[in-house]
Amino acid sequence: PPTITIIGAGLAGSEAALAAANLGVRVRLHEMRPVKMTPAHRSGGFAELVCSNSLGGEGEMQSKGLLQAELRSVGGAIVTAADASKLPAGNALAVERDEFSARVTDAVRGHPLITVVPGEVEAVPEGIAVIASGPLTGDALAADVARVTGSERLSFYDAAAPVIAFESIDMTVCWRAGRYDQSADYINCPFTKDEYLAFFGALENARSHTPHDWEHLEFFEGCMPIEEIARRGVDTPRFGPMSPKGLDDPRTGRWPYAVAQLRQEDREGRLWSLVGFQTSLKWGDQKAVVQLIPGLQNAEIVRYGVMHRNTYLNAPQVLENTLALKADPQKFVAGVLAGTEGYLESAGTGWLAGTNAARLALGQAPLTPPEESMLGGLVRYLASANPKNFQPMNVNWALVPELPAPEPGPSGKVRKLGKREKRPVMFRRGLSAFMDWARDEAGLSVAPPPVPHQKETPE
Ligand code: FAD
Repeated sequence: PPTITIIGAGLAGSEAALAAANLGVRVRLHEMRPVKMTPAHRSGGFAELVCSNSLGGEGEMQSKGLLQAELRSVGGAIVTAADASKLPAGNALAVERDEFSARVTDAVRGHPLITVVPGEVEAVPEGIAVIASGPLTGDALAADVARVTGSERLSFYDAAAPVIAFESIDMTVCWRAGRYDQSADYINCPFTKDEYLAFFGALENARSHTPHDWEHLEFFEGCMPIEEIARRGVDTPRFGPMSPKGLDDPRTGRWPYAVAQLRQEDREGRLWSLVGFQTSLKWGDQKAVVQLIPGLQNAEIVRYGVMHRNTYLNAPQVLENTLALKADPQKFVAGVLAGTEGYLESAGTGWLAGTNAARLALGQAPLTPPEESMLGGLVRYLASANPKNFQPMNVNWALVPELPAPEPGPSGKVRKLGKREKRPVMFRRGLSAFMDWARDEAGLSVAPPPVPHQKETPE
């Protein structure tokens, strides 16, 4: 059989190796641990979970639940090991981390078509390969990835602002406009003085995450966290990212006291990020602060702001929706390096990259899952997101299309569906689209997964 190379036996690389080997392709899987450790890993085990032991909420209300179900339907290695190492954790897929890692390691090492090659890889290899070296990619390899993709397209830390689902923005308060009549590309949230002072007070008192010892970041002026800007004085945000200049509020015809702006993140306009609001505030405090912004009182934050060390590509500039590099169609990228965030997202992109690398090695064209599926939505986002200030993304419901509007009732009124009604429909739509695709397009054997019924609040 043909041979492919995979770099990294983390969440993405282990999944990629097993997906490819199960298609009958030989895999040379390179892993540098334990010969060379990263600052976050502790063991030489594959798919080590470096922090939390949860692979996200389960069931039909959760976007992660949909991705888990999709991967289960095709026998994904990471969810299979997670299901077998599951701990009681309400509606989350939490695992006993050592057992989980041991199961993945055994599955990889026990596969007759996978050869594990210990040691650090320092350059992008020849031939068909999956690069899945993660957020703490070794320096030499990172430099070579940058050479292949263009150095300005590889980032070494994340300074991300919260991303908000459009459907949760109150457009009776906010309005679309650009400064001084530039094109109306932004959503603007207007503050009165009192609203601004209340927001500022909450921001001043909010608590931040403490960075790990090895990841203290030097803040550049351009990516200063909003809480750091606020520390310089009550008016500093208002003269910086929250300036109202050139923004006439249509309700008053005047500039508000301050403005928070949102910029479109995806092609469809379902995801919007707060401009200049990169932050390391704790999630609960971050939500409370964001919801004090007028118009965002019900904001659904689909991705929280973070500031941490990370290695990732500007996916929309460098990747196809098959996870192949535009610059070299024989190279696939998966996991955090591909611009995803999260264990499960790494597994999902690992599965797709491994499947596509194997297909290419077998003379078949690489594929992308349908847009209604969570994996399809995620890779579509990676390939088509706004490349300006691209920030890694985790799965969320705004990555997949909304449901069509229901037919009007007898009175002629359209009843708006609540999340509790919508999510299970979106879940079933996504899972069946994914399974049809996997069976009919990708030619894989597919088994409908059990879906835990969920009474919990929808995401
Ligand atoms: P990894 O799982 O890190 O795998 C990459 C592998 O490549 C590693 O085994 C590494 O040793 C190897 N490698 C790197 N360079 C080379 C090289 N040159 N040659 C050979 N091998 C190499 N996500 C969550 O969902 N929940 C969390 O709680 C969470 N906490 C995190 C905490 C920290 C400190 C960090 C850094 C990330 C965290 N993440 C978390 C984000 C992300 O989900 C994980 O990092 C996840 O492990 C990423 O999967 P991956 O396969 O891309 O990378």
